Amino acid sequence: MHRIFSTDVIILSKRNLSNLDIEFLCYSKDYGVASFWQKVHSSKKFRAMDFFCYSKIKFFIYNSFDENIYKIVDFDILDYNYNIRLDFQKLEIVSFFSKILSKNIFKDCKEIFYLLKEFLYTINYKELSFWDLEILKFLFFMKILQLDGYGFQIKECLFCRSFLPENVKTLYFSVDFGGIICNKCIQNLNFYEKRNLVLINLKILKLLKICYAKDVRDFFVLNDQIFFKKSDLLGFDLFFEKVSRYYI
Ligand SMILES: [Zn+2]
Repeated sequence: MHRIFSTDVIILSKRNLSNLDIEFLCYSKDYGVASFWQKVHSSKKFRAMDFFCYSKIKFFIYNSFDENIYKIVDFDILDYNYNIRLDFQKLEIVSFFSKILSKNIFKDCKEIFYLLKEFLYTINYKELSFWDLEILKFLFFMKILQLDGYGFQIKECLFCRSFLPENVKTLYFSVDFGGIICNKCIQNLNFYEKRNLVLINLKILKLLKICYAKDVRDFFVLNDQIFFKKSDLLGFDLFFEKVSRYYI
């Protein structure tokens, strides 16, 4: 007799296995990234269990020779997030989330689970422009890094601790050191220390501050209020590319 457990999951990917099982790679509220198995069958409910579904599942742990297998006994789909699958760009953004989370290096499962759930909800139900989606992609990534212990120093200079003047238009962000460096301290950096510097403007800084809003819900409210145009965030693509390449 197996003991039955339950948890909430978001499906990141699924694949058919040779023995008529199907494997769901999920982000689960209690276990982080985990694979759950179920026998293939033709019920409508089962077929609807697809990418980015938010489900409550019941399962037992089967101890095989070399690993634990989580076998699904029953599940209820709480949100299909169906619109995501119909929109190519939305799909691309959530695939990026899935790629980051599949790395399985993040410790705080519950926080990350709720963050993912909120983001998927927003992406699924809101009318979002190309640029809104790019910003959400960035915010999710930065928030995940923060939850994993990579908090960037954005209020004062990393080296001299001086507060950053508000009359400047651009600031240097060091991807290597993880924060802002003032114009004076920049002069003292050597060639290697200057390698991963990116020039960012105050709007990008504002975006970073939004990432560090205390509550995920506050953060979505803020995102509704602050309207970023692509031209506001000049250099944002380079900044994002450098940061993501460094931390993934
Ligand atoms: Zn300084």
